[in-house]
Amino acid sequence: MTRTYHRSCTLCEATCGVAIEVEGDRVVSIRGDDADPFSKGYLCPKATALGDLHADPDRLRHPMVREGSTWRELGWDEAFDLVAARLEAVQRAHGKDAVAVYQGNPTVHNLGLLTLGQLLFRKLGTRSGYSATSADQLPHMLAAHKMYGDALMLAVPDLDRTEFFLCLGGNPLVSNGSIMTAPDMRGRLKALRARGGKVVVVDPRRSETADVADQHLFIRPGTDSLLLLSMLQVIFAERLARPGRVGGFLDGLDDLERAAREFPPEATAAATGITPDEVRALVRALAAARGVVYGRLGVCTTEFGGLGGWLIQAINLVLGRVDEPGGMMFTTPAVDVEPLTRMLGHEIAFDRYRSRVRGLPEFGGELPVVTLAEEMDTPGPGQLRGFVCSAGNPVLSTPNGGRLERALAGLEFFVAIDMYLNETTRHAHVILPPTTTLEHAHYDLAYATLSVRNVAKYSPPVFERAADQRHDWEICVELYSRLGLPFGRLGKLAGRGIRAALLRLGPEAVLELGLRTGKYRLSLAKLREAPHGLDLGALEPRLPGRLRTANRRVALAPKLYLDDLARLRARLAQPAAAADALVLIGRRDLRSNNSWCHNSARLVKGKPRCTLLIHPVDAAARGIADGDSVELASKAGRVRVPAQVSDEIMRGVVSLPHGWGHDRAGTRLTVASATPGASVNDVTSEELFDALSGNAALSGLTVAVARAP
Ligand code: SF4
Repeated sequence: MTRTYHRSCTLCEATCGVAIEVEGDRVVSIRGDDADPFSKGYLCPKATALGDLHADPDRLRHPMVREGSTWRELGWDEAFDLVAARLEAVQRAHGKDAVAVYQGNPTVHNLGLLTLGQLLFRKLGTRSGYSATSADQLPHMLAAHKMYGDALMLAVPDLDRTEFFLCLGGNPLVSNGSIMTAPDMRGRLKALRARGGKVVVVDPRRSETADVADQHLFIRPGTDSLLLLSMLQVIFAERLARPGRVGGFLDGLDDLERAAREFPPEATAAATGITPDEVRALVRALAAARGVVYGRLGVCTTEFGGLGGWLIQAINLVLGRVDEPGGMMFTTPAVDVEPLTRMLGHEIAFDRYRSRVRGLPEFGGELPVVTLAEEMDTPGPGQLRGFVCSAGNPVLSTPNGGRLERALAGLEFFVAIDMYLNETTRHAHVILPPTTTLEHAHYDLAYATLSVRNVAKYSPPVFERAADQRHDWEICVELYSRLGLPFGRLGKLAGRGIRAALLRLGPEAVLELGLRTGKYRLSLAKLREAPHGLDLGALEPRLPGRLRTANRRVALAPKLYLDDLARLRARLAQPAAAADALVLIGRRDLRSNNSWCHNSARLVKGKPRCTLLIHPVDAAARGIADGDSVELASKAGRVRVPAQVSDEIMRGVVSLPHGWGHDRAGTRLTVASATPGASVNDVTSEELFDALSGNAALSGLTVAVARAP
């Protein structure tokens, strides 16, 4: 007998509604849920991976302990006791901060990890937190923190009402939206153009989104901040600034104007590759329409990503496009995560302390990922000796993965909470594998705050977990209750009591509290009555009430950004790179999400996707033909990949997707290791980063490319 379950897909930010048909413990089909009010039946090819991940024979189902190069299964209790004892031993010997915690991107798609899971990471009490944030969206969060007073106040484009969508360094047609939860991006952009609106893409590559846009402008990697400053200069020079309602609580307009004055389009054109006429035409078109400027990974992951995150907000603010329909707006989610975050003891601030080796600033209790390997392999007081890696594969997803691998191998103790024996977890001493997404309940706490409409949806589990399996939040609670128990037997008893209470309550208790205290006064029961999800309406103005700055005003020109302009000025004054120099950027693929989906045969079949895009002129200059094997090299390392010669990439730039490199020995990834690709992070460098925010600069590294011998 088949049953059908309706839930949200958790594989990317779009949160599409899916209808999953199940027979026994087998997924029979996965379709788009036509009745989901947000995604309306839309589905991308990745959704099939939900079933593939669940049924994957490579998925670990029992705790594993490594003995030399072999792995042995062990029971859960034994595993929890072992992990707690080893973590405690490391912290006792070397201090709390000697244990690092890395939380990978899937954490944000996981209700249990976002709520009760955090108890474990707080309990460890380490200042050595890490996550994918500093290889991704940290500049946006820093801008929100500095300008609006709350790092979680991330404004999203009001895509369904905008008339002009200017997209920098993003490819939403393939990412399906990022810091902009919007299922069916193709349909939404089509609708935008059908109502007379325009889409303009600025990117070093003519991406899939550029292909459906009205205009595409090539830009040199890492120069978005220069373009944005020139746009601001034109806005002020041509008297196009109209902050509107938000102008009533905006500080720093004059400072911003002064800062932009020295970056007219003539001063930045040689660096960006965009002519002054193109910049002025772009600004005039944007100012004339009810438009929005949106920027993503290609803006953030550069040496000036911090400035980029700020300037995107600044342009939207001076044009009166923040908190206005069709512009950048703030959601009104059913669960307000800000008080919830505070309740879980998490305060997001910036630069309260710095990393030991290079002195880079923390953000929200986390250090930049570019410091992770050096904090492990640089001897001295405070050196990292222990590691907890939850739902992450930093060997493939952080710069200079090779150095990190070597550093992981030297740790005293490493525990991974992960369902795979992958490129990172193969270095662990113990792996604690959680259930799959189909085995636990879900609510998109994070993405409901980034949606282009206010929505709420609860997804019950499709499959019951087996008695001998544990959810990731259960693993965290078990370790939490065993760690650092004071007062001998009394402490043990208290620990058991807390554990029993948390396991009984589960993440749903936190969700229930959030729903009941949220604006719509929802409850789990109400969400269960609406299995396709609830549409709570279009985004509404939230300012100034939502502001969390001390003076309840928007800070348009915070000092740290104005100070950082000196660094940009210095870069502008540097001589141009050699004419034949190549710089590296990343790219995404619709059938892939980081490294998650590469063990699904259905998703990796077909033409090779891990190819190095290179312009025909650059290829010819190196004697490279389409399909040739080429070597891509930097100071950090080298990889061999097939060349894809195409004029979709601008001259002087090459592009390799991330998340690949499954050819390491000792993993258990049958499909992925048969189609390994190469890891771009064997080439990227931890030495290239944004000095303001600490974010990794994965784009803009100078590389060498040659035909492989
Ligand atoms: S777009 Fe994202 S959420 Fe939607 S089906 Fe694809 S992977 Fe899932």
